[in-house]
Amino acid sequence: MGKCIICQKEIFKKSHIRPVSVYDKRSYDLIKCENCKTLFTYPVPSQDEIDQIYKEQYFYGAHKITVGEKRYRAKKMASYVSRFSSIKTALDVGSMYGFLIDELNRRNIRCAGIDIDPEAVAYCKKNNIPVESISLEGYLEKPGGSHDLIILSHVLEHLFDPKEKLIAIREKLNDGGKLLIAVPNIEAWTRKIFGNYWGYWDVPIHLTHFNKSTLRNLLESSGFEIVDVRTVGGSSLLFFSTLAKMLRKSGGSFEITHAKKWLIGSISSILKYWYNLGDDEILVVAKIKSKK
Ligand SMILES: [Zn+2]
Repeated sequence: MGKCIICQKEIFKKSHIRPVSVYDKRSYDLIKCENCKTLFTYPVPSQDEIDQIYKEQYFYGAHKITVGEKRYRAKKMASYVSRFSSIKTALDVGSMYGFLIDELNRRNIRCAGIDIDPEAVAYCKKNNIPVESISLEGYLEKPGGSHDLIILSHVLEHLFDPKEKLIAIREKLNDGGKLLIAVPNIEAWTRKIFGNYWGYWDVPIHLTHFNKSTLRNLLESSGFEIVDVRTVGGSSLLFFSTLAKMLRKSGGSFEITHAKKWLIGSISSILKYWYNLGDDEILVVAKIKSKK
């Protein structure tokens, strides 16, 4: 690893934590920048490796089984957003099936989304949810676009260059515009319990791992000031992914049969309330410091 992508220093220290990958059964190292304390997956996978995982293994199907829970979480998130009075328009980056867009529109916040998953985009088109099939990179290069709020829910930890993206995103915000960010919280109780098997490590596709203080530091050094920070519980997929890792390590397999789908759906309808109890995810609202 060369320079830290957040603070540009070159002093790294290996962590004792070695998360298990659910994709290739190997363990990855985590290295910590001694200057800004941010944790990174090591070795850093190539874009090709990541694309391969998304194409062949990333379990989009799981999101469909847990639709009720997704809607519940979207409702919670939308009611959180509507507490910030000046938000009239929003963009949801990686909007998946558009549940959050739907909930925000119900609350009179005009929200659109961007996503690159063809199935999710097709679903949104069919249901009249305004989603454009474009990557974040593509969107940032395009002229135009000016929002009161940009939502990056479980996006930042996937980016090779989170800081550059955050700086570029400022140009797509109105004066005083806000960001809503959700990322896994490496100081969560579940992380302490499950250690290397913790589902939200999700190596190697999660490249950067945050706690409240490293996320705050990244946002402040990218031209934002923090408005609100809180933690919420993870989705049931956190628990299923943790379980899958434990089973794999012990030689078991994790094929998704109809019975398992039914079981996952049922458990998810109870586990959705974990949102109110856990601390697996950090939610941050930040606003632009000043425009250049
Ligand atoms: Zn650093």
